[in-house]
Amino acid sequence: MINVTKTFLPPLEDYNRIIQRVWDNEWLTNRGELVLELEEKLKKSLEVSNIIITNNGTIPLQIAIKLLGQKGEIITTPFSYVATTSSIVWENCKPVFVDIHPEYFTIDETKIEEAITTRTTAIVATHVFGNPCNIEAIEAIAKKYNLWVIYDAAHCFGVKYNDRSIFEFGDVSTCSFHATKLFHTGEGGAMFANDIELRHKLYYSHNFGHNGPLAFHGLGINGKISELQAAMGLAVFPYMNNIIDERKKIVEFYNLNINFSKVSSLKIRKNTEWNYSYYPIIFETEQDLLDLQKEFNNRNIFPRRYFYPSLNTIQYTKGAEMPISESVASRIMCLPLYVGLKVEELEKIVLLINTHLC
Ligand SMILES: *Cc1c(COP(=O)(O)O)cnc(C)c1O
Repeated sequence: MINVTKTFLPPLEDYNRIIQRVWDNEWLTNRGELVLELEEKLKKSLEVSNIIITNNGTIPLQIAIKLLGQKGEIITTPFSYVATTSSIVWENCKPVFVDIHPEYFTIDETKIEEAITTRTTAIVATHVFGNPCNIEAIEAIAKKYNLWVIYDAAHCFGVKYNDRSIFEFGDVSTCSFHATKLFHTGEGGAMFANDIELRHKLYYSHNFGHNGPLAFHGLGINGKISELQAAMGLAVFPYMNNIIDERKKIVEFYNLNINFSKVSSLKIRKNTEWNYSYYPIIFETEQDLLDLQKEFNNRNIFPRRYFYPSLNTIQYTKGAEMPISESVASRIMCLPLYVGLKVEELEKIVLLINTHLC
């Protein structure tokens, strides 16, 4: 079976060696030695000024939205994983959708201003598939209207924009270390904020609001990652350059061999050092997608419809119509992309696309 992705598992010896330290320390959570070591390693390799790692990639979104959204209206993208939208609704804010750019698939910055009202508090945008939003334009709008910017950068491990880590942009940036993501800790995530005061709030919010054992800075929740998860991260970490190199080769194979007369691929924004996280192809019609999906599935190949449906159409959002997002969501599918995918398998996938769509 060939799936859209396959979790990278480090050699078990590597993991055992690291997990042994948990037994030696007899310390399982509350920011132990392994969590701190993983944060240091990630900070250096990602070249970020700060990082707080968390138990998944959704809790940092919820914490940031709780702190900054203040139950107001939040301008957001309909084309993302559901966590982007559900976090907004979960924190009692109202998602106000703005359609996406037809080629980059990120929120269309030219349509943001008309969606702003006196109740708007923040913009929550996704760098979808690791492709940056129009960061400059969003920053200018946020400044003009005094709005917070939160980037869901769940797909962005290792992405750089203008030679800086993408996590350095926005008031808060979040990432996911879920098993299906590029870098993973099984379940895990991270949040980033350049402002020291905001970072402090994010930090104590992820630890019940604690200010020492007996006092509290404010309200908080449990967003802590455990030593067991950090051990997985430390075992995967040394392989990250390999992982990205291997994925790059697969992306290049697809780029070179797919016949793009009937399908198109993702357009990466200029000045981006991309991470080869996903390989979406966009069909002319949803029927083309469904037909090819059937052919794939008959041969035990399972690409995924990332991201479907458009998030303005789910029952608890009931957003306005978003023609571009709805259209793209119905016609986009991510091809298998993971370390260990064989050339014969890639050839089979490409052959199927090229013969089926001619
Ligand atoms: C994976 C993902 C999340 C959620 O991350 P978890 O670690 O699974 O909680 C949020 N947003 C996007 C865009 C994602 O792809």
